[in-house]
Amino acid sequence: MPIYEYNCEKCDKKFEILIMGKDKPVCPCCGNLKVKRLMSSCGFVSKGSGGETVSSSAGASSCSGCSSSNCSSCGA
Ligand SMILES: [Zn+2]
Repeated sequence: MPIYEYNCEKCDKKFEILIMGKDKPVCPCCGNLKVKRLMSSCGFVSKGSGGETVSSSAGASSCSGCSSSNCSSCGA
């Protein structure tokens, strides 16, 4: 399950959301749609797959290439 970390640009709150398919992240605090995904989200995914610390940095770099909703491929 891809859980991503976001930062709301309106109220500057950090939150984690489980994104399924083409779901759009919304700030649970103010309902703002302008949220920025944080890079640490991909490290979280690769950590859950095997606990390899090396792959977490590699996943973060590949994550920058997939700003679309297909970020789940980072964990593979
Ligand atoms: Zn907000």
